[in-house]
Amino acid sequence: MAGPLLWPADEPWPECTAVHPKGTGRLLSDVRARRRIQEDARGRDFTEDELRLLDGMTAARHFPDLRDDAALPMLAVAQLSARDIPDLVGPEDYDLLQVFWCPFEAHGPDRTIDVALKWRRSADVEAVLTPQPEPPVAGREECVPTRCVVHPEQVVEHEYLGLLDEGLEEAVSAWEEGLLDDDNDDDDCEDGDDEDDSASLASYATYEEYEAAMAAARAEEPDEIDYMSDLSIAPGWKVGGFASWHLTDPAPVDCHVCGTAMPPLLTVDQWECDGASHSWLPIEDRDAENDPCVINPVGVYLGRGLMRVHTCPTDPFHPHRLSFQ
Ligand SMILES: [Zn+2]
Ligand SMILES: [Zn+2]
Repeated sequence: MAGPLLWPADEPWPECTAVHPKGTGRLLSDVRARRRIQEDARGRDFTEDELRLLDGMTAARHFPDLRDDAALPMLAVAQLSARDIPDLVGPEDYDLLQVFWCPFEAHGPDRTIDVALKWRRSADVEAVLTPQPEPPVAGREECVPTRCVVHPEQVVEHEYLGLLDEGLEEAVSAWEEGLLDDDNDDDDCEDGDDEDDSASLASYATYEEYEAAMAAARAEEPDEIDYMSDLSIAPGWKVGGFASWHLTDPAPVDCHVCGTAMPPLLTVDQWECDGASHSWLPIEDRDAENDPCVINPVGVYLGRGLMRVHTCPTDPFHPHRLSFQ
C-alpha cells in the first residue's frame, strides 16, 4: 500500500490534468506527521510539543501559485501481485496491478477522487524509478493511504442478500430465524424470558442506538452468526468478491464500452473488520481488535466508507468505473 511501486525509470508517472484546485488542502507531509504523532501517543496524552505540532497542521491554501490546470503526479495507492492474490484477474500475461488516485474529490459529475490503473508484467521492469513523485497536497487527510504491507487471505463470499433470487433470500431469512429460535429455546430453559430477541429497529430512537444495541447483544453472544455480517461479504480492502449495497439500492455497474456487467476488482474500505462481528477478523489479529493499525491500517475513508473500482471482465483495458457506499 502507498508505494514504492515497481515503476520503470524511463516511463512517465501518471498525472492528473483535470482542472480543480490543487494547492489547497492538507500537506501530505503533515498527514504523515500527524499519524506518526498519534501512533506514538497511543495510550497517553499528547505532550505540549505534540499539541503545538498538531495545531500547526491545518488545511489551507498551501500553494497559492499552483494552477488549477497544472499536471500533478497522482498518488501511489496500491501494488497488487497475482503471485500473492490468486483472485487478481487482469489481462492475460499481466501479473501486477498498480493503483493510483488523485487525492481531491473534484473529478467528474459526482466529484470523486480520480483513479488510474496500470497493469504490468513485472518481469519487464528493469531500472526502477526513484524517487517516486507525488502531489504535495491532498484535498482531505482521509484520501491519503498510509504505507503498509497487506497479508492477503483468500475467503469465500456470497452474493449480497438483496440480490439473491427470491426463493434463496427467503430460505436464508428462514434459516436466520431458526437460529434465533434455537437461542430462545436455550434462554427459556434458564429464565423463561426471551424479550431480548424482540428488539427491532422501531424500538430505538435512532439507527445509531439500534446499531449500538445490536453490537452489545452480539458481544454477549459472540457465536451468533447471520448471513449479512458473517457469511456473505467480507469487510476491509479486498480484490474480487461481491459488492455490498447496504446504503443504497443495488445499482448496475456496466462497462461503458461493451455493456458487460463489471464486478468489483478492488474494494477500498474504511474498516478491516465490522464493529459488530469479528467473523472476518484474522485469528492472529483477534487480541488486537481495538488497535487502529489492525482496524484501519491504511487510514483511507472515501464515499460513506467504501469505494469500489469495477473493471470489465470482457476486456480489462476498457475504462474502469467507481461505485461508492
Ligand atoms: Zn485531480
Ligand atoms: Zn467492456
